[in-house]
Amino acid sequence: MSFNKLGLSPALLKAIQDKGYTKPSQIQKEAIPEILKGNDILAGAQTGTGKTAAFALPLLHILQNAESKRRRVRVLVLVPTRELASQVGESFREYGINLRFKTSTLYGGVSINTQINKIKKGVDIVVATPGRLLDHLNQKTLNLSELETFVLDEADRMLDMGFIRDIKKILKYLPEEKQNLLFSATFPNEIKSLADNLLNSPKRVQVKSNNSTADKVEQVVYPIDKSRKKELLAYCIKEENWFQVLVFSRTKHGANKLAQQLNKEGINADAFHGNKSQTQRTRALSDFKDLKTQVLVATDIAARGIDISLLPHVVNFDLPYVPEDYIHRIGRTARAGQEGKAVSLVSADEHKLLFDIEKLLKSSIPKEIIVGFEPAQNLSTDALKPREAARKKNKSSRASKKQTSPRRKSSWNKRGNKNKSSKNNRRS
Ligand code: ADP
Ligand code: MG
Repeated sequence: MSFNKLGLSPALLKAIQDKGYTKPSQIQKEAIPEILKGNDILAGAQTGTGKTAAFALPLLHILQNAESKRRRVRVLVLVPTRELASQVGESFREYGINLRFKTSTLYGGVSINTQINKIKKGVDIVVATPGRLLDHLNQKTLNLSELETFVLDEADRMLDMGFIRDIKKILKYLPEEKQNLLFSATFPNEIKSLADNLLNSPKRVQVKSNNSTADKVEQVVYPIDKSRKKELLAYCIKEENWFQVLVFSRTKHGANKLAQQLNKEGINADAFHGNKSQTQRTRALSDFKDLKTQVLVATDIAARGIDISLLPHVVNFDLPYVPEDYIHRIGRTARAGQEGKAVSLVSADEHKLLFDIEKLLKSSIPKEIIVGFEPAQNLSTDALKPREAARKKNKSSRASKKQTSPRRKSSWNKRGNKNKSSKNNRRS
């Protein structure tokens, strides 16, 4: 199926062609005709499925069809992070390159006066993060009373980031009568009830998850001692010539430290997290996109929505505490059908986190031990055998018959725990 069949205007089709898109993604195929009809939408789709074009294209088409001389804000898109706001704003500009609409992005960390001046000149489309949007609404520097469409992008992330109350406040500023589009990867109860209140007999669009990003990304776990993670990362980057690597770290401090250490190793690395100024964040991201920086070490703030085209490598330097974050992290690679690899450096103390992630994925991630980096405690059955055998000797022959995976897990316990438990065994 081609874009031509979706009923979009020639100006939009031309822009799509110039972007190099040949056919619509599944969510685009399903959502575009419904949005063009004016329906409310409740869309569930994993990251990297092309949601931005799924709403931007039909909304631009609708604007164009009912173009008016007087500029006013007709479309509002709410997104959870500044980077996403700038990215989605850019998409509206690109898809609308042959049209005359003005898009404004409103987010915090930058001058509000510059934004006010732009708004005064007239805008049709606003892409915003909740906090700064509320600032504008409270001080009446933005009027949304004639809004025609409201888009809530990454709704579940909004919830995670604590924006639900802000969103409810924002909704009070919007006209009752409008088209509402809600996009979310998952539907926790709070999103469901928000959707119930907001949407008017919405069309449900769900992209099957068996084709999700998580399945397309080649995933591997490198079991490694915690103390040797940095060394292994530097080794992989050099040895396997990883030229563009997004590394995830759980903490801001950890991200800074790791970037510094990689720099010492002669690897060009930068850090990206919430403690950096907006200028630094924008710069770090654009240098990384332009391949001026080889490695970007980021906290989970970069895990949602950010789109780096053709990003080949994602590394989990440590595993996230929330299993869903793993999927969002690895979703930064293998986007829009491209290939990508996600490597997780997993130390013994992270066993439980890995277990939860594999449970969520409903599959186990292949483990590979890198020669020269064999961990003292690891997942491999070989390394496990001698210790298991020693313990078996102390047990009755009946108990030793079954040696299945739960046992294997025990090798992940801290050595101290393990000694304790075998001592107990001996005593009993
Ligand atoms: P999502 O919001 O679902 O995470 P995005 O809208 O950010 O996904 O799109 C992911 C990437 O796919 C972007 O780089 C975008 O340019 C690209 N893309 C979107 N639609 C298409 C398409 N029909 N064909 C090719 N690439 C596309
Ligand atoms: Mg998106």
